[in-house]
Amino acid sequence: MTRVLVVEDDPQLVRALVINMQARKYGVDAAPDGTTALRLAAARQPDVVVLDLGLPDMDGVDVIKALRGWTRTPILVLSARRASEEKVAALDAGADDYITKPFSMDELMARLRAAVRRTEEAPLAPETTLVKTDDFTIDLLAKKAARDGRDIRLTPTEWHLLEILVCNPGRLITQKQLLQEVWGASYGNKTNYLRVYMAQLRRKLETDPAHPRYLITEPGMGYRFEP
Ligand code: CA
Repeated sequence: MTRVLVVEDDPQLVRALVINMQARKYGVDAAPDGTTALRLAAARQPDVVVLDLGLPDMDGVDVIKALRGWTRTPILVLSARRASEEKVAALDAGADDYITKPFSMDELMARLRAAVRRTEEAPLAPETTLVKTDDFTIDLLAKKAARDGRDIRLTPTEWHLLEILVCNPGRLITQKQLLQEVWGASYGNKTNYLRVYMAQLRRKLETDPAHPRYLITEPGMGYRFEP
């Protein structure tokens, strides 16, 4: 049974979440604040955490940082906050995905399934060296990309960027994470680099670069590879 830890201080929302999750055969624990959440996470070892950022006793981002000190369990953030900086802070602290309130229960459940599935599958198994989409193929071992049977030339920087995204299918990677990984620690705010390089990658890989199907922008936040 998949165990979910719901961290949320709104009792009505907790009730709705518990009912919906139990109906889908999830085992659910609920914590009304950050302190209880950290205690329950250690005691119950949930498979996934659904975390509200606005908690009565501590900031949700600090809950994420505390959890990431010892566990890789996926964290799906619930946020009423419109400001994308808050969500980016949560993602940079180690959250896996976010959903903005108000949300539909179906959407939340789909994100939850995806988060759990990713821990079962990803990061890509070591033997996975070939990533195939309907439009292009990436050979991670040979460091080659091909489209319509023809090799595509990628620069080392383009390759590095693409590699991070395709190795984390479906996952939102923040601008800062990509910049620091590809360019280095002091480049965390050079988002214009990303715009330029992502545009190049799309021109080389996407059938319609203006309406990308695989290399998706999450405005103000980051990028996602949709396989
Ligand atoms: Ca709240």
